[in-house]
Amino acid sequence: MGEIYLMLLKEIQCKSIVTKSGLPEADFVINPYIGCSHGCNYCYARFVKKFTNHNSEEWGEFVDVKINAPELAQKEIKKITSGVIVIGSVTDPYQIVEKEFEVTRKILENISSTSARVNILTKSDLILRDIDLLKQFKNLEIAISMCSPDESIKELFEKDSPAIKSRINTLCELHKNNIKTVLFVSPILPEITDWKEIVNITKDFVDEYWFENLNLYLSIEKNVFGVLESKFPHLVSKYREIYFSKSSYFNDLENDIKLFCKESDIKYEIYFHHGK
Ligand code: SF4
Repeated sequence: MGEIYLMLLKEIQCKSIVTKSGLPEADFVINPYIGCSHGCNYCYARFVKKFTNHNSEEWGEFVDVKINAPELAQKEIKKITSGVIVIGSVTDPYQIVEKEFEVTRKILENISSTSARVNILTKSDLILRDIDLLKQFKNLEIAISMCSPDESIKELFEKDSPAIKSRINTLCELHKNNIKTVLFVSPILPEITDWKEIVNITKDFVDEYWFENLNLYLSIEKNVFGVLESKFPHLVSKYREIYFSKSSYFNDLENDIKLFCKESDIKYEIYFHHGK
């Protein structure tokens, strides 16, 4: 029997799958699904609703499966010989539906000989299913994202996503299999995310850290302030000051992270948004 899903699920045909990216850290992106059942309340990707006929649905409550993506990937990858391909810029390629549909797995099978650098972004341990395949890539890194080392904080901001414990275990397993691991500390929630603790508990099996602060898009402002008002009321005015006035908070934080990483001899990248 198939899985029972708590979301609207649809199979669709897409026109192309390896698309040029406007992101600074990616030349191309592949998104095997539209939507993401993890439904993180800070997720900026909800903007895709506008362009995909999902305007009336809540983010996290629909997923379109790009059923023809693997065959398109096989054709389109031939034109790409270098650069960075990010898999999962606006969806989690290993969200629950991947168990049944295996669109991500089939795409990987069809692009495994690429000489481009491939980066897969996920929060899910389902990626461990594909270790055999991941090992075939020449230049691959897996980035697992985390906004806190604390399960109760994860529950507040991304209740339907995999447990922190399972993400840590996933990084550990990938590392054991000689696959490059990145811990994407994102989003850093001011005064909430204990980023030092994340590094301290994972540095034995993480090759590189990426740090990104919370970008308070208009589309997520209500969600974030909703959590703050109910669980961290003492931080409401602090967030207003950080995001709505000229604050040096993120410059100072960036400097702290750089210093900490240098002193701890940690490889890192900073992807901070400054200003609204
Ligand atoms: S897992 Fe990523 S894409 Fe999915 S809702 Fe969360 S932040 Fe958005």
